[in-house]
Amino acid sequence: MPSASVNSPSIVPPAAVGFVGLGKMGNPMARNLARAGYAIVAHDVDRGALGRARDATGAEAPGSLKAMASRCGAVITMLPDGEAVRAVVLGPGGAEDCLLAGFPRGSVLIDMSSSSPLGTRALGARLAERGVAMLDAPVSGGVRKAADATLSIMVGGDAHSIARCRPILETMGRQIFLTGPLGSGHAMKALNNYVSAAGLVAAAEGVLAAQRFGLDPGNVVDILNASTGMNNSTLNKFHQFILSRAFDSGFSLELMVKDLKTALEVARSTGSPAPLAEACLEAWTEAQAALGSGLDHTAVVRHWEKLAGSELGKKHG
Ligand code: NAD
Repeated sequence: MPSASVNSPSIVPPAAVGFVGLGKMGNPMARNLARAGYAIVAHDVDRGALGRARDATGAEAPGSLKAMASRCGAVITMLPDGEAVRAVVLGPGGAEDCLLAGFPRGSVLIDMSSSSPLGTRALGARLAERGVAMLDAPVSGGVRKAADATLSIMVGGDAHSIARCRPILETMGRQIFLTGPLGSGHAMKALNNYVSAAGLVAAAEGVLAAQRFGLDPGNVVDILNASTGMNNSTLNKFHQFILSRAFDSGFSLELMVKDLKTALEVARSTGSPAPLAEACLEAWTEAQAALGSGLDHTAVVRHWEKLAGSELGKKHG
């Protein structure tokens, strides 16, 4: 059953757009939507986050997911994971105040969180039964690119819904990649973050060993960046967040571990060999358990520093 008429128009300003999850990424993304002229209808379980989003976007906050869905042609979710997305769409334990209870036929749910693609496909099927379309449109680029609307967005779903929502996505991202059917964007995002996490581990191991061999770690990072060992972490994380000891990139360790689990789920569900991803998940999970919760993902190096008995930037004894 088609979820929206083939003639449904594009969703353009000043249309109302629902936004659920106004944390580190959701806040600047909603701000860019508001700047483009969309009327934001916001929801977050954290009152502080909701208040900041209202200040930044002039958003309405009806306090009810059902009311949001009934008044917005499109609702964006930017939540920690797919379970949180299912909770707001279907209602935790069948609660009545959920998006599904308010969506008219022809609405679109755009899940921009980094969710599990298998859960996304199942949720999309539930929504399609009610004539509601779903896109998965996760992002890469972090808080800085969310703020200046230059995110990379990887979009899965049907072509008509993508065309309807393209004006919304273009207010938040510079590059919009079409990845295929629903779930393919989420698979791509998790695999991207696996490759990114593996690059961070490789660089941390290399810089630590180089320092213990007597090299200066800042110099090592500069040489990697001018050589074939360069990767996104050496370029954009080592000087900025690791050697500086700031550890404040804006992307948490918990969320990276979640993404690694999702990437392995994709590899396993397709029967793809992924021994490096297995080792990477083990290394990050062990670091998370040792370091505790609430840290930025760049602080993961502290665990390997402890194992090595050397802190990056300091001479070892
Ligand atoms: P965050 O923790 O800062 O924000 C999540 C927000 O969702 C919080 O404000 C929280 O209160 C809210 N929330 C959680 N459960 C809720 C619920 N049931 N109902 C309503 N609100 C709820 O996380 P973030 O860093 O903004 O990440 C959001 C998503 O984007 C994650 O899936 C993450 O993996 C992905 N992502 C993050 C980054 C980054 O650099 N931070 C980059 C790319 C993708």
